[in-house]
Amino acid sequence: MSIPKTIFVISGPSGSGKTTLLKGILSDRLLRRKLARSVSYTTRPKRSGEKNGRDYYFITAQEFQEKLRSKKLLEWTEYLGYYYGTPTTFFSDKYSAKSGLLLCLDIKGARRVRELYPKNSVSIFVMPLSLKLLPERIQKRCSRTGAKEIEQRLALAEEEVRASRHYEYRIVNKDLGKAIAALRTIIKKELSAQAVRNKRGVRT
Ligand code: 5GP
Repeated sequence: MSIPKTIFVISGPSGSGKTTLLKGILSDRLLRRKLARSVSYTTRPKRSGEKNGRDYYFITAQEFQEKLRSKKLLEWTEYLGYYYGTPTTFFSDKYSAKSGLLLCLDIKGARRVRELYPKNSVSIFVMPLSLKLLPERIQKRCSRTGAKEIEQRLALAEEEVRASRHYEYRIVNKDLGKAIAALRTIIKKELSAQAVRNKRGVRT
């Protein structure tokens, strides 16, 4: 299996805005050329506005088990009763030409990628401005999310924020424009450091 040169793992509680941040990053033409974004498999139902193959590959639990059995997942997690997994296809030759790969993972997936690629991965945690504002943001994002699921996502958010100390970078999403700029700076800095290592012939 070949790997992209730098793997950026981005985590953050539900409603912290990490998906919007990633969209902001990929609106930069230069970065879009250098980076690929992985699309995960999930068994959770599609939300309105989501597109199969763009946001996730929406599959059944049975199909997910089959992916696991046939080793088609680099890592996977169970999140509030649904399965999510990163396809190994993003670790194929096709993507090894890219300077970086963006993965949006929960804290368990982030830990796994750090273990698998300690030298090639960079972990970034997106902090919500305040846990108090999350219910409203979660509700807005998934209009059909029930009160119970919002409660579960909030309980998880506290655990996730506690785990943020294991990440190399933390971004507080107070102002979207500034948060995108901060993320862009981190990515560019890490890609330049990698370019220097490559030049020197240091194996990563
Ligand atoms: P959501 O249901 O809000 O789209 O995602 C729930 C959580 O699962 C988020 O923290 C998201 O980053 C994470 N997630 C999405 N895809 C994957 C994946 O392939 N692997 C892991 N470990 N987490 C994922």
